[in-house]
Amino acid sequence: MFDAHAHIGDITGEALVCTASAAELDRASLFPCFAVGSIPGHGAFDERALREAAGKGGHIGEIGLDRRFPDKEGQEDIFRKALEVAMEYDRIAIIHVVREYGSLYDILSEMGVRRFIVHGYTGSAEMAERLLGLGGIISLSPRAEGARSFRKLLTLPFVTETDMATGAEERRILSAWNERLSELTGEDIGERSERIMREMLCQATSS
Ligand SMILES: [Zn+2]
Repeated sequence: MFDAHAHIGDITGEALVCTASAAELDRASLFPCFAVGSIPGHGAFDERALREAAGKGGHIGEIGLDRRFPDKEGQEDIFRKALEVAMEYDRIAIIHVVREYGSLYDILSEMGVRRFIVHGYTGSAEMAERLLGLGGIISLSPRAEGARSFRKLLTLPFVTETDMATGAEERRILSAWNERLSELTGEDIGERSERIMREMLCQATSS
């Protein structure tokens, strides 16, 4: 059972541990699968720290666009810079997006980003298909059950996540979520999600 998007808690190799700011770089890099990012509302952007994380084998995230915060242009500028680091080091970009799916798609497609996870996905099934078409994957947390597109999303490829700090409670929630989705789809979602994540994490890393 692998958590496609978690935060710093107990050390584990069973989750991709992400950060909302570069200040957590040292703690995040203790995990076998980690990412360091910068999202709106979580302090200044630190490109050097993202490069340092990538140099240590880390991925880039969470990064993204969030309409609840001002300065869309500034957000996009930072997002592009972070994506450039991910592409340069051939790392996965873990993307946080709130009500900016259109701009997100435009940036990813224009920059040719292929290795990405849109985490906590709650958008439309049509947008999910367009994002999958670029080569990325969507990740569903238990919040996805409240999305209008929920049933349709279940017919698409996806991975599963908690967005929680790693530990016993995170394990419990992930297990229940995978079980719930397995019931709805008739597939072993925990197994499938882990397989997709392991494949993605193992793709050639050139630097
Ligand atoms: Zn998160």
